[in-house]
Amino acid sequence: MNQFKPIFLGAADPRSEMVTYRRVVNSQKCVRAGGKHNDLEDVGRDVYHHTFFEMLGNWSFGDYFKEEACGMAWRLLTEEYRIPPERLYVSYFAGDAISGLPADEETRHIWLSIGVPADHLLPFGMRDNFWEMGETGPCGPCTEIHYDHIGGRNAALLVNADSPDVVEIWNLVFMQYNREADHSLRSLPHFSVDTGMGLERLVSVLQGQRSNYDTDLFTPLLSAIQQCANCPKYRGRTGEADVGKVDMAYRVVADHVRTLSVCIADGVYPGMSGAELVLRRILRRAVRFSSEVLQAPEGSLAGLVPTVAHILIMDVINENEAQFLSSLKQGRRVIDRTLQRLEGSNSVFPAPVAWSLHRNLGFPLDLIGLMLEEKGMCIDQQSIDELASANEKLKRQTQSSGRETLFHLDLHTLAQLQADKVPQTDDFLKYHYSLGPDDKYVFQPCHATVQALYCGQALVSEVAEGQRCGVVLDRTCFYAEQGGQSHDQGYFIKDGLQDVMYPVEAVHLAGGYVVHQVTTADVLTKGDQVQLYVDEAQRLACMVKHTATHILNFALRQHLGPSVEQRGSHVAADRLRFDFSGSLSTTQLQEIEKSIRNIITEDSAVYIEEVSLARVKDIPGLRTVEEVYPDPVRVVSVAVPISDLFVSQTVRPTSVELCCGTHLRRTGEIGDLVIVSERQMVKGISRIIAVTGDDARQAQEAGQALAQEVESLMARLAAVTSPCLASTYRLAKEVGVLTDAVDCTPIPQWQRRELQTHLKSLQRTTNTIIRKLETKEVNKTHNPVGLSALSANDWALAVCAYLGGNAGGSSTVAKGTGNVADLAVAIRYAETFAKDKIQHQC
Ligand code: ATP
Ligand code: MG
Repeated sequence: MNQFKPIFLGAADPRSEMVTYRRVVNSQKCVRAGGKHNDLEDVGRDVYHHTFFEMLGNWSFGDYFKEEACGMAWRLLTEEYRIPPERLYVSYFAGDAISGLPADEETRHIWLSIGVPADHLLPFGMRDNFWEMGETGPCGPCTEIHYDHIGGRNAALLVNADSPDVVEIWNLVFMQYNREADHSLRSLPHFSVDTGMGLERLVSVLQGQRSNYDTDLFTPLLSAIQQCANCPKYRGRTGEADVGKVDMAYRVVADHVRTLSVCIADGVYPGMSGAELVLRRILRRAVRFSSEVLQAPEGSLAGLVPTVAHILIMDVINENEAQFLSSLKQGRRVIDRTLQRLEGSNSVFPAPVAWSLHRNLGFPLDLIGLMLEEKGMCIDQQSIDELASANEKLKRQTQSSGRETLFHLDLHTLAQLQADKVPQTDDFLKYHYSLGPDDKYVFQPCHATVQALYCGQALVSEVAEGQRCGVVLDRTCFYAEQGGQSHDQGYFIKDGLQDVMYPVEAVHLAGGYVVHQVTTADVLTKGDQVQLYVDEAQRLACMVKHTATHILNFALRQHLGPSVEQRGSHVAADRLRFDFSGSLSTTQLQEIEKSIRNIITEDSAVYIEEVSLARVKDIPGLRTVEEVYPDPVRVVSVAVPISDLFVSQTVRPTSVELCCGTHLRRTGEIGDLVIVSERQMVKGISRIIAVTGDDARQAQEAGQALAQEVESLMARLAAVTSPCLASTYRLAKEVGVLTDAVDCTPIPQWQRRELQTHLKSLQRTTNTIIRKLETKEVNKTHNPVGLSALSANDWALAVCAYLGGNAGGSSTVAKGTGNVADLAVAIRYAETFAKDKIQHQC
């Protein structure tokens, strides 16, 4: 955070860019091998401390504070990364009497309101939960998120207890104070947030590994070390089990060579003082472990540098190259076509085209300059600067209004279109599709005229090549985003320019005008004639999901009763989302899926007709959502012709909805449906995510495969008659990996819940066995005569009471607090107490 210190203190140079920073995200290199934060001694001994690691951070400089920081962190971990929330524990500042600092109750309440259960929310004192960088400077209480690699238990006691399985992954620091030279704390002018999450620990969580060294950030390095070492291969052991400290040596060398490579590349060389001395020490430690423990020949250490470079650098370059190569080809075509058009008439390249290459295809402007220079051309720098500042202004406006206004017609433009008597778009062709003789849908083509062009928040008569703009046509077959269904995608072709496609990225509806968001592949002018092509696969996938959504809504009502309310839905090509009041049990999930499958198998016809709003009221049992419907309104009915709907005695219960969406002709075309997720979003409202067709079949197959794996694990555990620690650890690890797979793979939700129950019970069983075996081991080593009262709880209680505090825990692990004025005295007391107990028992 050093680079941001002036901002925290309100002391940033007012002329610097830094002074404008409000919200920042970054990734920064950290070396903790000296000074206040020194993890050197832990490196190699444990599996989650490194001398060099990458810290991912988000920062608020007088902008958002505790509530947003906690909310965003929780959403990122549990929703984006889908880390099971029950594996996470959160610590917060417990207050400190000596400094007169109160407990951070605000943060505690924020976490509770986010849904962190009270027994996962733990108070800690100054040492763990008050963040200070040095003797003076910005500081404040922090809240840390810890991850339990084992799961299926309450691991609260292991938080901040140096357990390799319960590890801190993210620290959220709330900068409220400045530590003054006289050691007092003064409130900062602005409150800020500084968070840090270790990339290596996050990767181990996301890759389901209990050790950072088992992730792909390290395994290639360990293999490379093994190739030059003269010792057994890496087995991941720690402590006493790591005979000869071979595995520790692997870890030390892997860690240290990363640090050496990164520091030297950054210009820090091994030397005799400060950071350079730290690096020298790291190098010497690495050499010692490499040559003496791993028996690697001289030169091996430097031989690992290409592997470090591969992991940290080459992959980044390869990914970026792949991303840019396709843009480069596209951009080259645009440049060549523009040059052809100019045909040597002008040596200045059109600024709008250069700017759009920069903005839309990610071309650095200096690169465009170079490419043009080769052709004897140049860019009009003044026009480019004007475009850049206009773009910046627009970006700021968009940010401050909080929405993408670029291609949504604003009120003034709409009024102008109406005043200019531009007719509203006829979009009825979006419904013109039918089933062809080969049972494939045939979508009607559409030829249209450009009525209006919207660019840079104004109506224009022409848009240059490579620009993003809104296009209003007299007619269209594109479906605009509405009624919870995603808009179509596709492209235009301009008459007379057959090889040039104008991609349509989004389609919106505004005051009866359908606005197509297009990136122009060539000049586009008002009055141009275009042929429209909808992406048929994407449209069909939306139709499948939309009809499936109606059937799901119907099945929910059949099973939960008429009181269930639709609370929102969204239909996209890859999945459907449906929010409703209530929630579903595992059995209800299964039954609902079965009902839906029956309707799909029946292959019923889907009837669609326009009916006047007045008549629609006569359809018995029809439900509407809170929406203003057009008159006449489209009625979509499954299996029952619309005219039959009005005759109540002949009507069987079926799905009938008022809907402007596009639907299938027959239900059989859905193929299959699987609910892959169902969970409560807020109290009383649940969200279903479902997939159809091949995705549904894949989800079922994945569910079957995981069920088999769980079954075989249960059988293996049941077959163990005399368990040993090593094999039970292995089983526990397999349970953990399988739990992650069950949590994250798209499989039927009912099956996920069943498998989670089995896995939880497997976890409980393995944990109990491990606890018993570990206690036995501890007793064998430390208590060969079998003393029953070498209870950790008693010991901690006695020592902490002596220190004026309190303690708690089990017979094997306990912890507590107390005032430690003189640590040596406290340790002496603890040792005497233990010795007395042993003597007494003997
Ligand atoms: P620990 O108690 O595990 O040493 P810490 O309290 O020192 O962690 P912070 O100073 O809060 O950690 O750093 C923020 C984050 O950086 C941690 O949550 C962790 O993910 C990561 N981190 C910290 N130290 C290391 C290290 N030595 N190696 C790898 N990652 C680390
Ligand atoms: Mg630390």
